[in-house]
Amino acid sequence: MRPKFVAGNWKMYTSAGTAKALATTVAMSMKGDKRVMVAVCPPFPWLGVVASALDGMSVMLGAQNCHFEKEGAYTGEVSPAMLRDVGCQYVIIGHSERRHGFGETDDLLNKKAKAALAAGLKVIFCVGELLAEREANQTEQVLDTQLTNGLAGLTSAQMHSVVLAYEPVWAIGTGKVATPEQAQAAHAFIRGKLAGLYDAGTAAHVQIQYGGSVKADNAAGLMSLPDVDGALVGGASLKADQFLAIVNAAIG
Ligand code: PEP
Repeated sequence: MRPKFVAGNWKMYTSAGTAKALATTVAMSMKGDKRVMVAVCPPFPWLGVVASALDGMSVMLGAQNCHFEKEGAYTGEVSPAMLRDVGCQYVIIGHSERRHGFGETDDLLNKKAKAALAAGLKVIFCVGELLAEREANQTEQVLDTQLTNGLAGLTSAQMHSVVLAYEPVWAIGTGKVATPEQAQAAHAFIRGKLAGLYDAGTAAHVQIQYGGSVKADNAAGLMSLPDVDGALVGGASLKADQFLAIVNAAIG
């Protein structure tokens, strides 16, 4: 039985003060509840502040991106080791805003995933199709390519430290959520692909989050689907009451 995992991607929102307050409220409300895994992923500058707020709490800390090198002359970049050092357990890799807004390719994302895992981070690896790709019936082909290339060279053991997030790009920040049928079909396809790339045991073990306009009123329906193991939440993760309602929906 895979535990549900709800992660909040705060993107480039919050201040030091609001980040601390949001993390504190979420962590205090969870009261160490172990029925669901919860993580928050603040902007880089607030990772330390939020790490302190989460100290001793069950809510985990994630970052939204990383470089693939350990260190070096990479102005403006942050290494996986630095993220570990500041207290991160997770890093999001391959978010569509990185893929499509910053031109990050499957090969680059593969290097980032390998570097993050080598540094001891767990990875939330995002995949998902554009609207035009869905309309052209290319969803499975896109997911297939993103998974084959993005996970290339990762071992079955390493996949125990990888969470996948299916995030149809047309549903991110748009208020257009995938239907339960669309979400379940994509998640089942992804799990089948994992079985092909690895084995049935690995496929059964990997958590697959859904992301794309998850809100309090649609979360329960999505997370009750057999292959949906939680949510990667953008906009609704910025309001403690909305995020906690999604977390509660994951508990069921
Ligand atoms: C996201 O940023 O990963 C996301 C799913 O955003 P939203 O929930 O706002 O659609």
